[in-house]
Amino acid sequence: MRYSRMLIPTLREAPKDAEVVSHQLMLRAGYIRKLAAGVYTYLPLCFRVLKKIERIVREEMTAAGAQELLLPIVMPAELWKETGRWDYYGKELLRIKDRHERDFCFGPTHEEAITDLVRSELRSWRDLPKNLFQIQTKFRDEIRPRFGLMRGREFIMKDAYSFDVDEASARKTYARMVEAYEKIFSRCGLKFRAVEAGTGTIGGSLSHEFQVLADSGEDAILACNACKYAANVEKAEVKKGPGTRDQGPGTQNKKEYHKVKTPGKKAAEEVAAFLKVKTDQLLKTLIFETDQGPVAGLVRGDRSLKEAKLRDLIGCEWIRLAEEETVRKVTKAPSGFAGPVGLNIPVYVDQEVALMKDFVVGANEGDHHLTGANLGDFNITKAGDIRAAVGGDLCPRCEKGKLEEHRGIEVGQVFYLGTKYSGAMKAQVLDKEGKQTTIVMGCYGIGIGRTAAAAIEQNHDEKGIIWPLPIAPFQVEVIPLNQDQAVLEAAEKLYADLGEAGIEALLDDRDERAGVKFSDFELIGIPYALVIGARGLKNKEVELKERKTGKTNNIPLKEAIPAIQKTMSS
Ligand code: ATP
Ligand code: MG
Repeated sequence: MRYSRMLIPTLREAPKDAEVVSHQLMLRAGYIRKLAAGVYTYLPLCFRVLKKIERIVREEMTAAGAQELLLPIVMPAELWKETGRWDYYGKELLRIKDRHERDFCFGPTHEEAITDLVRSELRSWRDLPKNLFQIQTKFRDEIRPRFGLMRGREFIMKDAYSFDVDEASARKTYARMVEAYEKIFSRCGLKFRAVEAGTGTIGGSLSHEFQVLADSGEDAILACNACKYAANVEKAEVKKGPGTRDQGPGTQNKKEYHKVKTPGKKAAEEVAAFLKVKTDQLLKTLIFETDQGPVAGLVRGDRSLKEAKLRDLIGCEWIRLAEEETVRKVTKAPSGFAGPVGLNIPVYVDQEVALMKDFVVGANEGDHHLTGANLGDFNITKAGDIRAAVGGDLCPRCEKGKLEEHRGIEVGQVFYLGTKYSGAMKAQVLDKEGKQTTIVMGCYGIGIGRTAAAAIEQNHDEKGIIWPLPIAPFQVEVIPLNQDQAVLEAAEKLYADLGEAGIEALLDDRDERAGVKFSDFELIGIPYALVIGARGLKNKEVELKERKTGKTNNIPLKEAIPAIQKTMSS
């Protein structure tokens, strides 16, 4: 490709609303342009990167036994009502009406559509297993689209769905997908980690996220420094300790606490500072609304409570932090002063709380707390692991290593779904005994654009992008240093030879100063350059430059092709 013919609208500076490096560089280097919030045009350089990632994904999915198809983007509401997600998905689901006023949605994910296909087309255990995938544009009306391709509203996803006759077979498929994902992200040249994850709006019982490690990542990961255990902080377990204890209702009430004034002090840190105690001597009481009614969740003052863990402990469908109105109704006090003593709703406590004595809690009265409170002073419905794990915690698996904190960007996620969708949508086949059995499912997503953005977050410097070779838009850029006839001719010849050797090359044929060409080469992030100048040409030499290290090396012009081939394969 010739630079002069390509659309590469580079910018001196990134627009101010671009907060993260990948977003800034994709704009500056002419990879993307915004059409609306979270909706982007992929310019030619970006398109090439996306196609490279897609190719790797396609090859590995196919090698793992999956077949590609393409489902509709627009789906009728009826399908989504069958699984209950028409209501459950909320505002992220973009709803549209057709000319007959019928409800449709723009697909954020495709469990419903694929399950509908499979239930009508598959009849017998002999038709299974099947693993079907597509690479398609999705739409999720994200509340805060940001960071460019990292969290768009419209984005490209590879989504796969597997169908097996029983759990054992479905678990094998799941394991195979985990392996395929490891190959995909390794082949993309990324440093990543597979971590245990929660299941969000997709659901199911077992899930792993693939996290590209980068300091700018939105996700916090905890990984053991001794064994393979790694999990998203939303999910990371805390080792079950002697502290796990269900008090059960009706424990004796000792009433040895004292009510003290804490005017305007709401946050644990403020209360602790005011009362001159450490935050770990406080017990935080948070009020939640759930499908089973309001509940209280309690953790030590210096900890944070994880909603998904509390949801699992309660065994409810959904959970969210209560609004002020509910807090006032159940505690008879403004928020910030809730406490477990005298509370008439179920009380769930973190296992660690069972080790605490003489602590501070809210008094359920504005501007007041209780000091010297103890477990005997209130009813506990259930105790369990509901706090966020933190760096330094003992590993819950090997119980030897310590958990370490990392930041990550979730580029893919795999879910073991069981019969969540196939059950709701009656997707069944006849088993070996001739009985109807519900198909066991899994689903597997990869964000194609987010993977590109994550690659930049992990690989860049102050000058620009440094693409990992396997997903770079071009492998080599040919840079003639000036417009001399001989220099241009040599560059053209080299460019042609590279093409013949099957190497993807970009020829910077613009009538620009060498400085401009170099800085654009560095900005757009092509891994290698072959630089031709008048002086080198006299010695029949060309300079091979590596973007990542900036290292240069003079090589005989005649050997340029084998030399670049060797460098690329090393
Ligand atoms: P997140 O937690 O980041 O919102 P998710 O868990 O909802 O993502 P999945 O349903 O697991 O996402 O979707 C599969 C993959 O699609 C994700 O791993 C991610 O790479 C990509 N993806 C999801 N949402 C977006 C988005 N808004 N913009 C770009 N890519 C996305
Ligand atoms: Mg996910």
